[in-house]
Amino acid sequence: MNKKIPVGILAATGTVGQRFVQLLVDHPWFEITAVTGSARTVGRPYGEGVNWKLEGDPPAHIADMIVQPTEPNLQIGGETPILFSALPTAQARELEPAFAEAGYAVFTNASPFRMTENVPLLIPEVNPNHIEMIPVQQAANGWRGCIVANANCSTTSAVLPLKVWQEAFGLEAAIMTTLQAISGAGYPGVPSLDILGNVVPYIGKEDGKLETEPKKLLGSVVDGKLAMADIKLSAQANRVPVVDGHLASVSVKLSRPATVEEGIAAFEEWQMPEMIRALPSVVKRPLIYRPEPDRPQPRLDSNSGNGLAWTVGKVVDCGVLDLKFMSLTHNTLRGAASGSVLNAELLVSQGMVGS
Ligand code: NAP
Repeated sequence: MNKKIPVGILAATGTVGQRFVQLLVDHPWFEITAVTGSARTVGRPYGEGVNWKLEGDPPAHIADMIVQPTEPNLQIGGETPILFSALPTAQARELEPAFAEAGYAVFTNASPFRMTENVPLLIPEVNPNHIEMIPVQQAANGWRGCIVANANCSTTSAVLPLKVWQEAFGLEAAIMTTLQAISGAGYPGVPSLDILGNVVPYIGKEDGKLETEPKKLLGSVVDGKLAMADIKLSAQANRVPVVDGHLASVSVKLSRPATVEEGIAAFEEWQMPEMIRALPSVVKRPLIYRPEPDRPQPRLDSNSGNGLAWTVGKVVDCGVLDLKFMSLTHNTLRGAASGSVLNAELLVSQGMVGS
């Protein structure tokens, strides 16, 4: 790519927005040319308004950028088709369709459109062909742009291993219990007195998201039309005193019986889809199987593969269903900003935006 594509970040000052800044500042295809925020930060230099929580300081030239209002008449410096959105739910519901109508491809981390027909709920390692929904979405809405959603960060933690076993053995049901990091709640997030030395067995509407989103992600798309996967799902989400990394404990019922060895072999032999192999952010091993009985662990494994990998382990027989595993992903990277960047790279590589 000769010239970088200018991109904007909506809600660039938040937990996920800061990750976008960190990931995009040296990106080979994209260049940050606009950052937005709420009334709290609009009109101020980014470096002054942001409460930077990552290592070091915000990159100098981004720190000097003036935070813009989150409106479709964004000053973005040239023709850009790409926006990365870390907007809160209510603002995303209201504003993202307006940006899509104005011609932007919006790569969102928010939940309002994840289950909307024709909006791809995209994880390139899992369902890259779901981008076929985009022309259907554009035609249905009369949009030049589009919305492409990320899955919920807890759904993401379980879904690639589920996909691998779905392909290898067929999948009938899964029971998922998640142990989710505090950074998943944004900043300042869960009060320290609620979470230190404690576990909170309730995270908003998370159980419901875990019980619906995998059906879309593991569903099939033919001629741009989605058929949800016919899988029974049950989930319980828990907040635990961990900074980054969502861990999922998953028991599955398979369509055909498989041994523990076959389950592990399926993870070890899985190959990523051909169409994503050359994307700049894709990592060599997106699925890492760890044989140690006490892995994956958030502190040790969340940053595996630049924070983009799934680390799976503890594959054992299940006394009720068939097999069990533990799976971990970094919630603000794989489960949010890095996932969105990969989604944008996939659309660019397919000539669907940026050309
Ligand atoms: P956060 O840390 O609370 O940040 C909120 C961001 O939203 C800030 O940039 C804030 O800007 C901006 N904002 C608030 N009100 C606004 C308004 N009226 N107009 C424009 N911008 C506004 O939240 P977060 O964790 O980054 O989450 C952002 C989104 O990503 C949410 O939809 C969340 O559900 C989703 N998500 C989060 C994670 C995670 O692990 N944290 C993972 C997946 C998805 P100011 O700083 O200028 O006020």
